Amino acid sequence: MLLSKQRNKWTMTIAGTVLLVMIMILILNYFKYQYQAVVTSERERLTDIADYLDMRFNAYLVGLNLLAGHNDIRYLEADRARPDLLAAAKALDVVNVALYDYKGKLISDCWPLTAQVESPFSKICAKNDFYSVLTGGANVSGRMLDSSQENAYVSVQVPVLGENQVTGVLAAYIPISDISLAVTREVMPERQYVFVMDGSGQFIHHPRLSEFFPESKSFKLRMNELLFQKKGIVETSSPIDGVDKMIIYTGLNNTQWRIGTAIPVSDMYARVFNKALEDAKNFLLLIMCLGLLYGVWYQARRHEQEREQLKLERMMCVNQLAAGIAHEIRNPLTSIQGFIQLMLKRSDKPVPQEHFKIILSEIGRIDSLISEFQMLARPLKDPLIEKVDICKLLNDVLLLMKGQFYDKTIALDLQLPSTGCCFVLGDIGQLKQVFINLVKNALEAVPVGGNVTIMVACQQDMMAITVENDGEGIPLEIIEKLGTPFFTTKANGTGLGLSVCYSIVQNHGGKIMVSSTLGKKTVFTVLLPAALEQGMVQNK
Ligand code: ADP
Ligand code: MG
Repeated sequence: MLLSKQRNKWTMTIAGTVLLVMIMILILNYFKYQYQAVVTSERERLTDIADYLDMRFNAYLVGLNLLAGHNDIRYLEADRARPDLLAAAKALDVVNVALYDYKGKLISDCWPLTAQVESPFSKICAKNDFYSVLTGGANVSGRMLDSSQENAYVSVQVPVLGENQVTGVLAAYIPISDISLAVTREVMPERQYVFVMDGSGQFIHHPRLSEFFPESKSFKLRMNELLFQKKGIVETSSPIDGVDKMIIYTGLNNTQWRIGTAIPVSDMYARVFNKALEDAKNFLLLIMCLGLLYGVWYQARRHEQEREQLKLERMMCVNQLAAGIAHEIRNPLTSIQGFIQLMLKRSDKPVPQEHFKIILSEIGRIDSLISEFQMLARPLKDPLIEKVDICKLLNDVLLLMKGQFYDKTIALDLQLPSTGCCFVLGDIGQLKQVFINLVKNALEAVPVGGNVTIMVACQQDMMAITVENDGEGIPLEIIEKLGTPFFTTKANGTGLGLSVCYSIVQNHGGKIMVSSTLGKKTVFTVLLPAALEQGMVQNK
């Protein structure tokens, strides 16, 4: 026993721990999922910007490629090329379109011919980008400065092909402020910003670019290192303001550029927490709804079960009753049968009078059993409620039973209230039956020369009628059984009298209470609804 209890305790502890661990894993996974969801939504935002930039670069590249195939450009003659370059700059909405030979010498661009100063685009500043175009591919450069060293641009470059080889380069220049405008079209949450970096770690767009421009070599290296990883997300302390930030980034199709967003780590976790809070609220609401539904369903089921139970109890009661009646009637029948068989065997001898007397008394017993049982069934019908003078009713009952009191020399005391408030609401016939049974029981319980007292009192809206008798009293375990059909402690009792009383009184909206002092007395109190107004007495 002790061993199994301890084993049970262990099983419970292990099950509890496993459950706790599972819940923890579930919560952890949930937060991981929410974190990923935030990262994904940020990446989608970046992809939108990247797609927009790629689209613009594609438009430049297509335009320049078309132009590069034109004979005016292919012959690399300044006079022929210039009008086309001017038209292209206007059509592409860029500050300049320039044509270079393969050595990087400017042939022509859109810089005004009348200007005193040489075109600031005459020197190729992003040399690496330029040379990579010479190998035949189109290119979007990183950040570059013109020869005045004041204005920053990015250039889109395409090769110009001669007969079989690259003979020159056609380049369109876009101010980096244009790129910034395209990037800042997206509205960002507070404390978060988007930046664009070229392949060599220089910023093309950053909201605080002016604060760290030009970038130091180590700064460029660090940023490049951070963003060169393939994960697309890094956590770092910002080299600009020292705040711990989560940097999420993605690439562009046409360039080595990276476009990223920096979110303070605390903001990132706050966002995850807020989402979790929202989900928790919804979850709670769902649980409440489910709980409510379950409650309704549970109540309906309980009602159904109660109805079933009641039906079952009724059936059991009927079975018990039937068995009881059969048993009670069989006893006297057996003795009648025995006597008649005896008479038949001795048909030659005269039948003793004693035998007839026994047969008759047994028949009388069957008769009384049946009439009491009828009484038990009768209250099931609705009682005929009227105003009944209970004092008169009690007098009638006692008149009937006077002889029995006399036989046992029992003193009867009937105490009625001095004021008239003796009316109850009920069925006269049924109420008479109640008091006949109670007085009969009292008479049977009282010893010779004892007392029976009947009192009537008014209790608020009820009338209390008590039938008290001297005697042995009733033990507690028997009191609990009173009213059960066929429960009797008497040799010739039927055990139906009190059942009849209980069901009649209950049908009248009243109740019967029993109190008993062992070896002294027993008191039965009947509470019946009082008819407060005095009216016509319909007692018969
Ligand atoms: P019966 O009178 O046929 O036994 P009842 O239903 O009238 O059946 O009573 C059931 C039992 O209750 C009685 O057998 C008796 O034990 C007990 N009882 C009823 N009234 C009294 C009373 N006034 N004093 C003592 N016992 C009583
Ligand atoms: Mg009785």
